[in-house]
Amino acid sequence: MLKTLLHTVVPSRNDRLLKEYRGLVARINALEPQMQALAPTQFPAKTAELKQRLGNGEILDDLLPEAFALVREASRRVNNERHFDVQLIGGIALHRGQIAEMKTGEGKTLASTAPSYLNALTGKGVHIVTPNDYLAKRDSVWMGAIYTYLGLTVGLIQHGMEDDARRTAYAADITYGTNNEYGFDYLRDNMKFRLEDYVQRPFHFGIVDEVDSILIDEARTPLIISGPTEESTDKYYQIHKIMHGLSREVRREEVPKLNADQLHGIDEKWEQYEDSAVVREGDYAFDEKSRTISLTERGAQIVEERLRGKGMLAQGGLFDFENIETLHHVNQALKAAYQFRRDVDYVVKEGKVVIVDEFTGRLMPGRRFSDGLHQALEAKEDVKIERESQTYATITFQNYFRMYQKLAGMTGTAKTEEEEFIKIYGMEVLVVPTNRDMIRADHPDVIYKTKEAKLRAVVADITDIHASGQPVLVGTISIEASEDLSRRLRSEGVPHTVLNAKYHEQEAEIIAHAGERSTVTIATNMAGRGTDIKLGPGVREEGGLFIVGTERHEARRIDNQLRGRSGRQGDPGASRFYLSLEDDLMRIFGGERIANLMTRLKVEEDEAITHVLISRAIENAQKRVEAHNFEIRKHVLEYDDVMNKQREVIYTQRREILGQGVDAVLLEMAEEVLEDMLAVHTDSKNPEEWDLEGFHTQFHATFGERAKRDWHGGTPPQELLEPMLEQVRELFKAKRESLRPMMARAKGEPPSEAELDDIFQHFARHLLLSIHDGQWKDHLLSMDHLREGIGLVGYAQKKPIDEYKRAGFEMFAELLARIARESVATFFRAQFSGAEAPPPVERKQPKLQFSSDGEESAKAAKAAKVRSIPNWGRKREKKRKGA
Ligand code: ADP
Ligand code: MG
Repeated sequence: MLKTLLHTVVPSRNDRLLKEYRGLVARINALEPQMQALAPTQFPAKTAELKQRLGNGEILDDLLPEAFALVREASRRVNNERHFDVQLIGGIALHRGQIAEMKTGEGKTLASTAPSYLNALTGKGVHIVTPNDYLAKRDSVWMGAIYTYLGLTVGLIQHGMEDDARRTAYAADITYGTNNEYGFDYLRDNMKFRLEDYVQRPFHFGIVDEVDSILIDEARTPLIISGPTEESTDKYYQIHKIMHGLSREVRREEVPKLNADQLHGIDEKWEQYEDSAVVREGDYAFDEKSRTISLTERGAQIVEERLRGKGMLAQGGLFDFENIETLHHVNQALKAAYQFRRDVDYVVKEGKVVIVDEFTGRLMPGRRFSDGLHQALEAKEDVKIERESQTYATITFQNYFRMYQKLAGMTGTAKTEEEEFIKIYGMEVLVVPTNRDMIRADHPDVIYKTKEAKLRAVVADITDIHASGQPVLVGTISIEASEDLSRRLRSEGVPHTVLNAKYHEQEAEIIAHAGERSTVTIATNMAGRGTDIKLGPGVREEGGLFIVGTERHEARRIDNQLRGRSGRQGDPGASRFYLSLEDDLMRIFGGERIANLMTRLKVEEDEAITHVLISRAIENAQKRVEAHNFEIRKHVLEYDDVMNKQREVIYTQRREILGQGVDAVLLEMAEEVLEDMLAVHTDSKNPEEWDLEGFHTQFHATFGERAKRDWHGGTPPQELLEPMLEQVRELFKAKRESLRPMMARAKGEPPSEAELDDIFQHFARHLLLSIHDGQWKDHLLSMDHLREGIGLVGYAQKKPIDEYKRAGFEMFAELLARIARESVATFFRAQFSGAEAPPPVERKQPKLQFSSDGEESAKAAKAAKVRSIPNWGRKREKKRKGA
């Protein structure tokens, strides 16, 4: 009452917008004669002119009336379809980044052409997103004729297309494709090894057709690219076998901290060896502070010999570029053998290595150490190494589409979900009036006591309507229900067609005929189908298309989609939903009250009732379910948001690596690593407590030589940093130089500076990329499991999402640090001894799986186990925060 009163006094926002847009439409209409007078060749010329004016500082809004008028005239000429005023209104909404709610058959495909054209004038590309390949193709051809007439280019993305064709399609002014193809192209691009291979341009303007179907119904399942893990498990066992009997090197300052066992073999007079840092020779050095372990030269020699003996070393030494992978395995095996202690850091339980939480001592079943360490421990304990299929890349549609500078959508049913569209995508919904008045008769729901009685009534009614010649479209909520109904109709001798969602093109064909005389069509879910039903000859007189809903869906939106198939463009039509107290929605929500009511009214089994109370109860039930589902989707998104920020950082870094100047990226990393290293070892206020030897060990392990600038006493670290950075830069240059003789040998003459540069860049890129991608994949897995783990463990007083954010952030900081550290250490320790240039950046992609299917991704998530945080990073983070 109050609502209606308010409504008549204060115009709604929808009304105000419509009024504004109608004003614009009047301006567009006024330009019509002018456009009609143009010769065909003047259309591309006009496009060029508008582009130029854009370049001269006019903005798109200035050009809108002319651009829209131009498109309308082009469409009239090419397709003999002149945009209705309401289609222009919808077009303006799209241009404004809103959702145009326009009923089925109102011509959304055409409505989107004007804003597409206008925004494509920027040259930055416009993506039209369709729910399936068939529609992308249909629309790109159909609307493509208009754009071509106007002098713009059109591209089409189809499943299974080659990259070259994709790149061309994305380079076009306007591109048509499905949400899946766009999303997967984005992920695939970011797995490529050369920038030239990327197919997409930066995201500019996207118009999502059937937007509720894509952004709401499909939003619960992310896109996932997965593949097998690359390593063979055998290697872990073999390498573990050669780690036996290595001894620890002891440095003088470590002695006071060692226990009696560890002191074994140290010369009693060690204190007298003033100038020697090492008091017991060994095969590996272990720095407890940073928890790093590395082979000494002696140890490296032993390991090399053993590897060679087993034929596990390619030509050259352990630190040669060709052996990077083996070196990595060796390092992990070393950690497993000499750093990680059974029953302290982990336990072995039922044939599995289970992590013990460093801080709480709690077992963390299901979690895994990252970076191959867990496998190395499994090899050490001689249990089965768990091979995992792993995620290579993943994104939710929400986050994919939020990357567009501007996003718009269109559908017949959006208003019910407006809150979600606004909160998540910042898109408001404009309800656009229909071109002609809607005259469909929507009959009230009828309710039966039992499902059986309901179905009998449905079949009887369909039989009657069919006999009258009126076409019927029957909606069910599951394939099972469709089949059941089909059986019943068959036994009544009613001819009909059942739609299954698998073959879009064939389906479009069936739907196209669903409006013809005496047809009966059964369909499961009409949302997002994108084909409208035109009435056959003589059907108008029979009352148009009759819609039968056999059950109420959880979401009103889906019911509205079904209804909306009838009554298009002022057609006659009718609709009715049939319900029973045994339907899920009724059973779960308020069924009992209604049941009592029906008993009181003495309703017979085959008797139906309609009642406003019941209709209202159903609507309320639907609202509750919708709100609940929104919560779930928000939840998914909250989690993916954490990943999203990380993905952006990683993908940006990746583009840097692929670009020119990758050597600069590497040098920068080296400087950061050095700074961190220095900070960690001198974090105490008291210089006495600085761990200088630890620093030197780590410096050596990272850069391959000792720091020249030795430092005793209390020289402030800031003063030391610059000379050490200088040393690192020198070493960096030397690495580049070391390629020169090798190239000269390979070429037979000295290489030019440009050639040297080229090879050096290749080398740096190859190295960075393999570490970067490998670590990121690994991190994805850790994050998956972190999420799963957090869902299981109750955190006192903490919201799981907060805990996930906190831990996720920490893990990500560690990931970035780890990428830098690994890259730098590998780079400085790699040697070029071979006669050949390092391999160009080219790696084979393993066999990948693309899934956007909920079940698949759930399975993938289950199959994988948590990998957790390597220790050094955690330590470092702690130190930073603690100090
Ligand atoms: P929607 O996507 O809104 O359900 P479509 O874009 O599929 O509708 O268009 C429905 C039908 O209406 C198509 O057959 C199309 O040719 C027709 N149509 C759309 N706009 C116009 C117009 N301005 N003039 C004539 N026919 C039109
Ligand atoms: Mg459509």
